[in-house]
Amino acid sequence: MREEVRCAWCGRPFVPSPGPGRPRRYCRRSCRQRDFEARRRAAEHGLADHELIVTRAALSRLDDAAYVLACAVEDVDRDLAGEHDEVDVARALAWLLDAARPLAELSRRGGLLAGGDGAGAVTSL
Ligand SMILES: [Zn+2]
Repeated sequence: MREEVRCAWCGRPFVPSPGPGRPRRYCRRSCRQRDFEARRRAAEHGLADHELIVTRAALSRLDDAAYVLACAVEDVDRDLAGEHDEVDVARALAWLLDAARPLAELSRRGGLLAGGDGAGAVTSL
């Protein structure tokens, strides 16, 4: 069994296919394309390799989804801190899953910062 590696763009684990040539660095073609575009944009703006250009809208979507999840984590921590039964745990899990879904959906759509919403702000990460 081959070892999993992480996509150089989105960080998603994948199993590289065997065969000749350079080992794959990306989980899918769109990640490779996004990385290429990001590096090209960074070079155009004189940014370093570790800096990215993302749209304000994409960053905002990510911030919003992370905020929802952070609030749910706080709620669940508080709700389960004291005495609780199975129903409380099930309710907490359901709440946490609901809060995590927007973030998971962003990831499923091909990367947390994928936007396709045109030119945007310069943001270094
Ligand atoms: Zn990827």
